[in-house]
Amino acid sequence: MYEQLEEVKKSCLNCQKCALGALRNNVVFSDGIPNSKLMLIGEAPGFNEDMQGKPFVGRAGQLLDKIFESVGFSREKDVYICNTIKCRPPENRDPLPDEKEACRAYLDKQIEILKPRIILLCGKVALTSFLPHLNVGITKVRGQWFEGPYGAKMMPIFHPSYLLRNPIARPGSPKALMWEDIKNIRKAYDAL
Ligand code: SF4
Repeated sequence: MYEQLEEVKKSCLNCQKCALGALRNNVVFSDGIPNSKLMLIGEAPGFNEDMQGKPFVGRAGQLLDKIFESVGFSREKDVYICNTIKCRPPENRDPLPDEKEACRAYLDKQIEILKPRIILLCGKVALTSFLPHLNVGITKVRGQWFEGPYGAKMMPIFHPSYLLRNPIARPGSPKALMWEDIKNIRKAYDAL
């Protein structure tokens, strides 16, 4: 499994399949532990991710780590983290359809090799990549389980950047809903 992932990573690190390849500082392939239980799929690298070659660093990444830690998960031991797109779009714009299409093979390979049992779709880019037929925003479907690839349970969740923009914790707020979701994710993980 690890050798196969390394092969995919190697070709991804040299990839120029779309225009983002010429603009990046680093390809952002993954972080965390290659783990067949829990995978989080985010959107695309931002400034800090592009500089460090790691997904979910900076304030959003720190918040994501805290959310995981609140239910006893750690990036180092429990979660494989990757993005829908491996190179940073300029000015953090949403990835274009042709960029998503060009990059999709890497993500599909990551899923095929690890066959995670739980997949978290973090933010709207991941949501629309996997559940385009729903045609709804993340607020409508976060916290719901869907059937994912290879029989995985798949749940859309808020992106931590969105939580940073909506920091107030009151009943029904994004922060409170995220807390509910992560507890349900922990329960599903423990039941595997
Ligand atoms: S975004 Fe994906 S397809 Fe485009 S150059 Fe980077 S790795 Fe290749």
